[in-house]
Amino acid sequence: MDYLPLFVDLKNKSCLVVGGGDIAARKAGLLIRAGAIVTIVAPEVSESSKSLIDDGLVNWLGAYFSDDIVMSFSLVIAATDSDEVNRQVYHYAKTHHVLVNVADEPELCDFILPSILDRSPIVVAVSSGGKSPILARQLRARLETLIPKSYGNLASLVGGYRGVVKAKFSTLAMRRRFWESILQGPVAEHVLAGRDSLAESVLNTAIENTDPNSLDTGEVYLVGAGPGDPELLTFKALRLMQQADIVFYDRLVSKEVLDLVRKEADQVYVGKQRAWHSVRQEEINQLLLEQAKKGKRVLRLKGGDPFIFGRGGEEIATLAAEKIPFQVVPGITAASGCASYAGIPLTHRDYSQSCVFVTGQLKEGDLDLNWPALVQAHQTVVVYMGLGGLAVLSERLQEHGMAADMPVALVQQGTMEHQEVWVSTIADLPAVAEREQPVAPTMVIIGEVVKLHDSLMWFNVENKS
Ligand code: SAH
Repeated sequence: MDYLPLFVDLKNKSCLVVGGGDIAARKAGLLIRAGAIVTIVAPEVSESSKSLIDDGLVNWLGAYFSDDIVMSFSLVIAATDSDEVNRQVYHYAKTHHVLVNVADEPELCDFILPSILDRSPIVVAVSSGGKSPILARQLRARLETLIPKSYGNLASLVGGYRGVVKAKFSTLAMRRRFWESILQGPVAEHVLAGRDSLAESVLNTAIENTDPNSLDTGEVYLVGAGPGDPELLTFKALRLMQQADIVFYDRLVSKEVLDLVRKEADQVYVGKQRAWHSVRQEEINQLLLEQAKKGKRVLRLKGGDPFIFGRGGEEIATLAAEKIPFQVVPGITAASGCASYAGIPLTHRDYSQSCVFVTGQLKEGDLDLNWPALVQAHQTVVVYMGLGGLAVLSERLQEHGMAADMPVALVQQGTMEHQEVWVSTIADLPAVAEREQPVAPTMVIIGEVVKLHDSLMWFNVENKS
């Protein structure tokens, strides 16, 4: 982050704008909106500056800038058409420790003015750090369509009830939950529909009737985070991620996805290591239980889909037994994500009418799978956790009759920026793995459908050419 956004209270503070042109007038206009007492210093002024002066909105010093002026102001903006004067303003402001901004000169700025979306008291500021003000403005315009004007009214309404709510609901967690339910429920709907007084009476009733203890129960959200690309999250996943108090996440959850969890939530990594799998699983089940019993909203975030090779069933069994409320949110499983992003349809009218998901994790050096069921015509086999057992997989499938030239794809870090796809045959799979040294997470897709990769690949194609 190059700049920290701060919202500054400029009410009744003296601010100086050096320059009398249209840009200066625009900057002065912004300061006026924030309640500042604005002085323009310039020997001559343009029409737009003049109208501010005539309307009594700014003071005008009809003179050239001189260094001693700076001292009596909290903040200075230089917007003259002379680089020399602008630099001079910057220099004196720095000398006197007055915050300064030189229009269009990011390196001569203590602060920059963002693009503003004003739904006071809600204010959204967008900045490109001076790199592309136009892009920031376009983004602001998009936000404009997303944030209805009445959001300002909503903020004002609830702002007036903070004290009452604080008196009734004693803990921060209770208040947060209360406000979340209000702001996602009928009160907000009424305000957005322009029914302000109805909204207020519903709010009053809610404050009166809500039992503080009812806001204190914990819950667990078992959420599928998808295979990596954060855009593959569901709306529901995102919503629950943004209201969690604490998150327990796996090795497979990508950083980009984790960045979308509510910033104030505690983050606990519970990535498992193969060797002591079962012990750890018990521990995780207990952790979820403990936190929910404390009244927390616990997010259990798992790669892909929690019910596909995710042991999600075990985690909620403990909760169900203890009657802790929980919700399960499916995610895009790695098979789907990898197949789509590798241009390999899992089923296809010409090549494959069924698809099987299996785990390729070795047990005592071998794979315990129903081999005849896997070696079927017109079927795609997707192997999760298969990296350690590729040689065994290749050997057993061929022993059970799979053609040596059956196409296979290895998809490493599917759906993510550094996705790699290696296509070979079941016979060559061990050699390819030896040569390419794929790392986890990698998915194995076996079947005629893999032939389609060449013509259907679309993701990251540019990076490869
Ligand atoms: N619940 C998860 C699977 C957990 S098992 C899901 O539904 O996707 C973990 C295995 O999934 C890994 O060993 C790997 O084979 C596969 N996997 C998960 N994410 C992947 C990704 N982004 N790219 C390739 N394989 C992935």
